[in-house]
Amino acid sequence: MPVQEIRLLGDPVLRTPAAPVTTFDKELRNLVRDLRETMLDAPGAGLAAPQIGVSLRVFTYDVDDAEGHLVNPVIVTRSDEQQDGDEGCLSLPGLSFPLKRSANVVAAGFNMYGDPVTIEGSEVLARCLQHETDHLDGVIFVDLLDPETKKEAMKAIREAEWAQPPRVKPSPHPMFGKAL
Ligand SMILES: [Zn+2]
Repeated sequence: MPVQEIRLLGDPVLRTPAAPVTTFDKELRNLVRDLRETMLDAPGAGLAAPQIGVSLRVFTYDVDDAEGHLVNPVIVTRSDEQQDGDEGCLSLPGLSFPLKRSANVVAAGFNMYGDPVTIEGSEVLARCLQHETDHLDGVIFVDLLDPETKKEAMKAIREAEWAQPPRVKPSPHPMFGKAL
């Protein structure tokens, strides 16, 4: 089943720095396929491997006409020029908050066959490349919000349906005798 369950904020895998890919094999190609299909199914503009529970430095993206993947990505250039805009994340369903990001970036890494790849992005693609690379370091975009917006975000996260702590299941055994 290529479409995978997307991990939500609170899952430790999202806070774990992901390991570099060392073997460009069939398993990696399957991971890229699963990421892509899960991203398109969501649908999302990008998806990082930890978001499907795999702690490896890989992400896929789909912004306007640019669709692809990057293995072991590094943001090699960030413009001083910033962009405003709202940012969201498939691991925080339904929430988005304004976050300043570099307007233009260059990301370098490899494709799934191990060939070097460079991607230049501006606007939404630049935002996406920064957001997905952050995921591989265990950074979620809400970490980067200005203090006021962050307060608002934390409240919205606490109130989000998906962020509720798991309810204690009632015991399947009928209770007899005295309550403790
Ligand atoms: Zn995200």
